[in-house]
Amino acid sequence: MTKTLTGGCQCSRVRYTATIENDDAYLCHCRMCQRATGGFAAAFVNLPLAGLTWDRAADWYQSSPIAHRPFCSACGTPLGFAFLKNAQGIDITVGSFDDPSAFVPTQHSGVESMHEAWLDTAGLPRQRSTEIESVVGHWKAAGMEIPE
Ligand SMILES: [Zn+2]
Ligand SMILES: [Zn+2]
Repeated sequence: MTKTLTGGCQCSRVRYTATIENDDAYLCHCRMCQRATGGFAAAFVNLPLAGLTWDRAADWYQSSPIAHRPFCSACGTPLGFAFLKNAQGIDITVGSFDDPSAFVPTQHSGVESMHEAWLDTAGLPRQRSTEIESVVGHWKAAGMEIPE
């Protein structure tokens, strides 16, 4: 089931088109991914290099002697990960897809720095953005509705 999906950074300066063969995604818990994304883990989709086209080019940060990471230098969105040499594929951040809902986590990587407390959060109280008074108030003051 080959699918073509699009995505990009928050400000849309960087855009890509990805061809995916399945819905598999994974979490990388390594410290470098935590720092690079600011999250407890990085949620990635791994694509063959031929499966990704940069419609509007990413900026790249060499995050270690072996790897570099695409991002947007205007808005700061982390977009992925790739090895510098002999890369077989590229990882793209799940949240940068225009529709991240299709992906399913199938693996944990970098588990030496995994924060167990963040894994099973299914039982926590839940609030929609529209139920958070301060968020609603700030959007209203700007004369706007909460965006999707
Ligand atoms: Zn951007
Ligand atoms: Zn990692």
